[in-house]
Amino acid sequence: MPHEPMNADLHCHSTVSDGLLSPADVARRAHANGVDLLALTDHDEVGGIDEAQAVAAELGLGFVPGVEISVSFAGETIHIVGLGIDHRHPELVAGLRQVREGRDARAARIGEELARVGIRGALEGARGFAGNPALVSRAHFARFLVTSGVMPDVKTVFDHYLVRGKPGFVEHEWAQLEEAVGWIRAAGGIAVVAHPARYRLSTADMKRLFDRFQAAGGEAVEVVSGAHTPEEAARFASEARRRGLLASRASDFHGEKESAVDLGRCNPLPPDLTPVWSRLLQ
Ligand code: AMP
Ligand code: MN
Ligand code: MN
Ligand code: MN
Repeated sequence: MPHEPMNADLHCHSTVSDGLLSPADVARRAHANGVDLLALTDHDEVGGIDEAQAVAAELGLGFVPGVEISVSFAGETIHIVGLGIDHRHPELVAGLRQVREGRDARAARIGEELARVGIRGALEGARGFAGNPALVSRAHFARFLVTSGVMPDVKTVFDHYLVRGKPGFVEHEWAQLEEAVGWIRAAGGIAVVAHPARYRLSTADMKRLFDRFQAAGGEAVEVVSGAHTPEEAARFASEARRRGLLASRASDFHGEKESAVDLGRCNPLPPDLTPVWSRLLQ
């Protein structure tokens, strides 16, 4: 049965990770943009949920607690979103703490790698952009490289720096796929493969990713994402049909100047797919 038109946006970021707006302002902007159902999904962190949820309640905006967990898989970083989580669940909280703990040493190494190509003060610069000292991300380094005049904008930074084979890249071991899905499920949530078209995986590794994800109890995939072209959305719509996965729709909004798609402004899901929010609204 076709689902009702619903403006769901189930993946975005606040200053608690690498977004540019506070959790309260994310909720306000989503409401102003006509979002009906919002999930805040900060990287490896649930510290913004209470604030966003309180503002959403005041505004009458539907809200789902979420998180975006960093996972290492086949030499790539993969992101698994958890939706409808109990963000106080001890197993999830402990897992996320463990994932965050590696970020300090990694950030220091990114700073050292940038110093090797003559860029000084990057660690301090990145920290200056981080709203949460436990969550220094490459996005914060990218902002430093823009304001210090090395690169014109954040998108261009990632063509020349901070990625494999370029200055400022460091290998890092994040969570295992099964761990991330397990924490989300323990906390009563639905696990979602975030923006799958962004991963540089072989066809065989992409198949293994989804096989292992589903075997671990993962249930959904971001079909429509701010990080997907319409062709990429069509490819993962087919994957959702073939595998019987629920479909998600998400801007992955970080901030006005940095994101291609604003909160609530994604394309609709293909009407034959089962939207993940059919399970979140039960
Ligand atoms: P980290 O979790 O520290 O590896 O940082 C990953 C973050 O960097 C992503 O969530 C994005 O916010 C940002 N990022 C990574 N690649 C790109 C890109 N190509 N363009 C813009 N932002 C990117
Ligand atoms: Mn990010
Ligand atoms: Mn992501
Ligand atoms: Mn994201």
